[in-house]
Amino acid sequence: MSKPDFTFSFEFFPPKTKSAAEKLWSDLPELSALNPEFMTVTYGTGGATTKTTPDTINKIMEITNVPVASHLTFIDTTKEELRSYIDDLWSRGIHHIVALRGDMPVDLKWPLDEDKNYFQYTSDFVEALRQWHPQIEISVGAYPEKHPDAPSLEADIKALKMKCDAGATRAITQLFFNNDNYYHFVDECAAMGIHTPIVPGLLPIHDFRGMCKFAGRCQAKVPVALYDKFEPLADKPEEAHKLAVELLVTQARDLIDNGVEHIHFYTLNKADITVDVVKAIL
Ligand code: FAD
Repeated sequence: MSKPDFTFSFEFFPPKTKSAAEKLWSDLPELSALNPEFMTVTYGTGGATTKTTPDTINKIMEITNVPVASHLTFIDTTKEELRSYIDDLWSRGIHHIVALRGDMPVDLKWPLDEDKNYFQYTSDFVEALRQWHPQIEISVGAYPEKHPDAPSLEADIKALKMKCDAGATRAITQLFFNNDNYYHFVDECAAMGIHTPIVPGLLPIHDFRGMCKFAGRCQAKVPVALYDKFEPLADKPEEAHKLAVELLVTQARDLIDNGVEHIHFYTLNKADITVDVVKAIL
């Protein structure tokens, strides 16, 4: 069935090697031909990709006409540096920021001490972004299975509400595999007065074991059924690919059937699974 009102977006990270970059540039036309609403490029905490994130954005803008957003983490970066980064993007036509705290470096403790040169919470950062550029589009992170640093889901939803009240345009979720956790989260957010769209962020499984390690760091739950299905396919890449597509199509279709209007795909800079899934659900 055609879903004309359904939109989607793709996330990339700055490629680390020349060959990884070439692969991404060659995959981009196929991805952009699917007509995503926007694409985003991640940012390394503490300014690790201050150069490579904008370089990646520039290259994407050369190859496609799709609007691009920059992720930006405020931790370990002064307000002045953040403003200068954003002003530079703004002048080049990049009007969408995915505003994040960033993961805690080992030498810092959460919550952060007050310091007038640094933001303390993402909601402060969002508020400043809205003041600096009133028309800017701001996406923020959301955690249906709770952010690891939060004492409870309720406390985390309160933090999300502060980001939304400060002016976020949308929230994009951390990866999840159990849609019921997302539906529960959206209901709880609505009950706490959040009316900002909460876009599901879905991860194609290219490498099951690698994905489990990453999910463990984010404290995203990997259902036992996924272990049962993927473990026997460790040496069968074609079957694992087919399974990854089937599972993601099922997950995305269920979300769309339950009223979700936009899905954000964590592409991991690879076209294949994402392209197959988007073609299947359009
Ligand atoms: P926050 O909203 O800042 O929450 C972090 C913790 O602080 C939570 O426990 C929250 O409950 C608490 N908190 C927030 N505000 C308050 C408050 N006012 N009072 C008390 N507690 C509060 N990381 C990168 O380094 N680069 C990226 O490009 C990147 N992209 C991402 C994209 C998405 C869609 C998502 C979901 C995450 C991404 N991350 C990225 C990871 C993110 O930086 C980490 O999860 C980080 O630890 C949290 O950032 P945040 O702004 O989403 O969380």
